[in-house]
Amino acid sequence: MVGNEHGLHARPAARLVGLVNGFDAVVTLTDLDTGRGPVDAGSLSMVATLNAQQGHRVRVGASGPQASEVLAAIEKLAAAGFGDEPTVQAAPTAGGSGLDVAIGPAVLVGSGVDLSGYVAGDNELGRLDDALEAAGEQLRELRDTTPEHGDIFVAHLALLEDRKVLTAVEHAVSGGSSAPTAWQDVYDDLATTFEGLDDAYQRERAQDVRAVRDRVLRILVGATEESPADGILVVPELDAATAATLDATRIAGIAVRAAGTTGHGVIVARSRGIPLITGIGDVDVRPGATIAFDARTGSFEVAPDEDRVQATIRERQNERAQAVTRADEPAITRDGKTIDVLVNVGVVQDAVDAQGADGSGLVRTEVLFGDRRTAPTVDEQVEAFRAIARALENRPITIRTWDIGGDKPLPFLPQAKEANPFLGERGLRVFRRRPELLRDQLEAIRRVATETPVHVMFPMVTTADEVAWALDELGPRDGLEVGIMVEVPAAALRVATLAEDLDFVSIGTNDLTQYTTAADRTNTAVASLADGLDPAVLQLIDHVVRNAGVRVAVCGDLASSPQAAVLLAALGVTELSAVGPQVPLVKAQLRQADLSQIDTAAVLKARDADQVRGLL
Ligand code: PEP
Ligand code: MG
Repeated sequence: MVGNEHGLHARPAARLVGLVNGFDAVVTLTDLDTGRGPVDAGSLSMVATLNAQQGHRVRVGASGPQASEVLAAIEKLAAAGFGDEPTVQAAPTAGGSGLDVAIGPAVLVGSGVDLSGYVAGDNELGRLDDALEAAGEQLRELRDTTPEHGDIFVAHLALLEDRKVLTAVEHAVSGGSSAPTAWQDVYDDLATTFEGLDDAYQRERAQDVRAVRDRVLRILVGATEESPADGILVVPELDAATAATLDATRIAGIAVRAAGTTGHGVIVARSRGIPLITGIGDVDVRPGATIAFDARTGSFEVAPDEDRVQATIRERQNERAQAVTRADEPAITRDGKTIDVLVNVGVVQDAVDAQGADGSGLVRTEVLFGDRRTAPTVDEQVEAFRAIARALENRPITIRTWDIGGDKPLPFLPQAKEANPFLGERGLRVFRRRPELLRDQLEAIRRVATETPVHVMFPMVTTADEVAWALDELGPRDGLEVGIMVEVPAAALRVATLAEDLDFVSIGTNDLTQYTTAADRTNTAVASLADGLDPAVLQLIDHVVRNAGVRVAVCGDLASSPQAAVLLAALGVTELSAVGPQVPLVKAQLRQADLSQIDTAAVLKARDADQVRGLL
């Protein structure tokens, strides 16, 4: 019986394959619940795509000289949950400059390996063997030198040594393909197979396949290892894992070809203070060429005037230094309105690094525990929430309950594949049918609330029934402030009804924008539509402020832009929660603003987001 939450997914599967290949035996697996199989247990691709889910019964068959030994060893491994221990998220540190401008040599990553210069010889199989050996050495070194990511490289090694895949590659080479072409084709097919699996977490493992594919291709064509240090990273898209693990003290910035500013990779990079620009498109950038960008003005240049860029960097450093000096003072506008400026927290370090934050307006719990294979216990959650509160000197923290689904799969909560995940079981909706994880989380939140000021808020709420259900699950409030996120247009329009029994609402402009403009926040083709300053979005925010009858906060990324923050305050929002490095800048901008002078009527009537920008 498979006990692992995601079934025999890539990493437990990798351990099983590694074990099987150490014995002189042929081992097969059959999923008795689906009837799939038998498949070769010495091949990671076969085992992972057998797709044996949690609770499935799997029959193991073995033949050969060490058949009984291998069966005993597999039994032991299965009893130990295939070694699928919970892992603790390695906290990425901030360390970025916190600026919105950068200059440096271009480091191109993830854009595939250029095979055009490769000349096939008469010993392609020999070249392939040498490349596999070199790749294996690299991976073993990475496994041994980075224990926090070690099991990723164990899985990569198993993919590299997959017998079935190797046979397919060798077959293609014998049929006349060059080694790189054969390798690329077979691994592309394998990635496609992973992408077709039901479980979102398993589908993401296609990234592992592509990483192994490119490692071997680089060796075959003699390209150097990608080193995202000491330059500006140019990437097609930015995933949260990459954003979380980059060495922020060394890279100068990140330039993302895809547009869009609310993907979770972008949010993580910003919270770490890494200079970042999105939407540079397919400009031609050569590795090593000097590039510069200014995210504030939206400019991206190859071979820029370096003196001018350095002058802008100095200006922004001064601006930041001044803002940081006054960060701990409240943000009081020139017309006397106090706006609370808080920090969005994804990892405890965000709270530690925050300067001047009046608390946290959004703790993204699904990010905080996103690296876990198994659900955190109540005690573990209490510990993490306490650490955040302590880092913020016991100022109020707003803990958002699990917001999963959409582009955020949780390893320990498998979800069925959906045709439109952003319109499917997301946020609070996930727990109506299986409330256990939510109940544990609410218990942890209630416990921490007895020690320090805590607010709880529920994401992705649409109906009054959902609010009633959530309040029922929460039980007695005992001083806990309770709110919901307003990120669905229906919730914005009927906020008066939804907020009747609440203490506050917090507008999630990232999702409110995606749902109002019908533009998927992860789809770069429509990213220009998903603009938080679209007057339609602003009209909904205005409606919420006028009708909620309770405190209105904004915790979406619009609140991280100093200019937009002033407009939100002028619309009547009294609490803004921003990414950490922006908190002092948002406060500084608010102090310079006279909200009574902002023509909000003109903004709400504007033709489009560009006109709104002109008015600011
Ligand atoms: C939002 O949607 O604006 C929000 C803050 O939540 P998330 O970005 O985590 O979906
Ligand atoms: Mg959201």
